[in-house]
Amino acid sequence: MTREAFKKPKLGEKLMKGIPTSPGVAMGKVCIHQDIFSHVPTYPIEDHQIGFEIKKLKKAIEEVEEAIRRDHDNVRRQLGYGGYGDAEIFSTHLSIMKDSHFLSEVFEKVATQKINATASVLSQIKRYEEVFSKIEDPYLKERILDIRDIGKRLIESLIGPMEFDCPFNDAVIVAGLELTPKDTVQIKKERVLAFITEQGGRESHAAILARSMGIPAVLGIGELLSRIQRGDFLIVDGNMGLVVINPPEEVIQEYRRNQEKIKAHRRNLASLIASPAETPDGQRFKLMANIGNMMDLEFAIHYQADGVGLFRTELPFIIGGHFLSEEEQSEIYRKVVKRMSPKEVIIRTLDFGGDKFLVSLRPEKNPFLGYRSTRAFLKEKEMLKIQLRAIFRASAYGKVKILFPMVSSIEEVRQLRKVVKEVENELMSQQVDFGKGVPVGVMVEVPSLAIMAQKLMKEVDFVSIGTNDLVQFTLAVDRDNDLVSHLYQPLNPSILWLIRNVVDAGNVHGKSVSICGEIAGDPHYFPLLFGLGLREFSVAPVAILEIKEIARLVTREKTTHIAEKALEMDSSKEIERLIMTSYPLKHT
Ligand code: PEP
Ligand code: MG
Repeated sequence: MTREAFKKPKLGEKLMKGIPTSPGVAMGKVCIHQDIFSHVPTYPIEDHQIGFEIKKLKKAIEEVEEAIRRDHDNVRRQLGYGGYGDAEIFSTHLSIMKDSHFLSEVFEKVATQKINATASVLSQIKRYEEVFSKIEDPYLKERILDIRDIGKRLIESLIGPMEFDCPFNDAVIVAGLELTPKDTVQIKKERVLAFITEQGGRESHAAILARSMGIPAVLGIGELLSRIQRGDFLIVDGNMGLVVINPPEEVIQEYRRNQEKIKAHRRNLASLIASPAETPDGQRFKLMANIGNMMDLEFAIHYQADGVGLFRTELPFIIGGHFLSEEEQSEIYRKVVKRMSPKEVIIRTLDFGGDKFLVSLRPEKNPFLGYRSTRAFLKEKEMLKIQLRAIFRASAYGKVKILFPMVSSIEEVRQLRKVVKEVENELMSQQVDFGKGVPVGVMVEVPSLAIMAQKLMKEVDFVSIGTNDLVQFTLAVDRDNDLVSHLYQPLNPSILWLIRNVVDAGNVHGKSVSICGEIAGDPHYFPLLFGLGLREFSVAPVAILEIKEIARLVTREKTTHIAEKALEMDSSKEIERLIMTSYPLKHT
């Protein structure tokens, strides 16, 4: 169910649609951030010029490292609390700079292909873009922006910066092909009303920064830059993912009224940070955070999450460009565990699909159903053991649980537990320090496991329901394919029955059942999920307050009744209507 299902606005002319990535509404003039990649000088060089280009490149690298450190401090100062988390973007960038692989190839290209330094940087970015374009996970895919950001910095250092040409005194809407952290940090926060871009999605930095700055953002707007000009008056609707160009007065007035409501709502929400996750009839529940990097972790801490319910571990591997060593991994996990301690961290093992570290030997027709994730890891057992050792070592510093993704059978669970045991024994015999009795669980995201839930519970310490994939696999609908997105229905009764089956099995066997798919963080779904018996939710950090807010409206009795009714219904449309009428949300 999308937010559009709940509210249809009156629309003006010249409407553009994109991905709503940060809520709120902004109105004002637009300025366009130029893309430096389309202004890069590229030319061949002679042998005797190689040394000169290499020297320029070395100097640029030093300057960029220095500039990243400066931005790190600036962001902390500008954004207060959020700045701490956002500033972590720059730590990530420093580590990319230090990754010898990334830069050594840039040097190599100057020398071997005999091209100037900026051309070599550009060519390296293009190579990485190609690698990232094959990644399926939308979150990881957007990490290419980190690489592009560094590329931008290097090119700017080599040829001078592109000015943000914006002659207006008032704050403006900032538009661009994409907006990397560097772009966003260069523009003063007080000068920005909203971000809109042609590329990027929910997990790109412009989106994450916009959410932390509390300004709207609509990204991924096709042909944006060919449809707007500097100085156009725009409405940016971050709730609906809409941008209206030069709208008529009545539309502006309507949006103004809406804007006031949203502002008031935001102010109220902040007061919930320190409040417990609880319903008015005294039902406490666990509200944890999904994280994929240090920045998410800082948001999770700021919003006082009850722990990390899902730590997706793929990103450092992708940024690192190689399968990370035990040492490299354990350092990352240790950081997260220590920072979250005494609250728990559920670390998920690698969930790559068709990726370069765990590739099948031939192209796959259906990579989502192919050689990926846990099934590949069980074949590449040494790699699995390295990650497990790293996780165990981090468990010496706080509460850790191990979570395996994409498990599809009880046999796999048994094989995994066997490997876990082997690793524990090895560590013990090597006298390595680690937490004893680390719980081992699996994602329930393949329907076969949800169906077998009663048996499954005997084999695991806990489970986490991953509805993003569970919906995809149950309904046979690609979660990232626009052509069939209308069929991707988390409210399909079959999904509710599977969730109910898992919750029941958890209760029977006294095993904890959490939910960590996107729907867990959408307040519209909360009453129904709560009514189905779920009491552990792991959500994007920014969704924590909205869930606490809706929880204050629900009671066990009413939500149980809603869930029972929903389970008897025939279609997602009916169920959607039921939850809309039971809990109409005013502010989204
Ligand atoms: C899921 O499938 O619901 C999930 C949380 O995992 P991911 O989105 O990483 O596949
Ligand atoms: Mg999944």
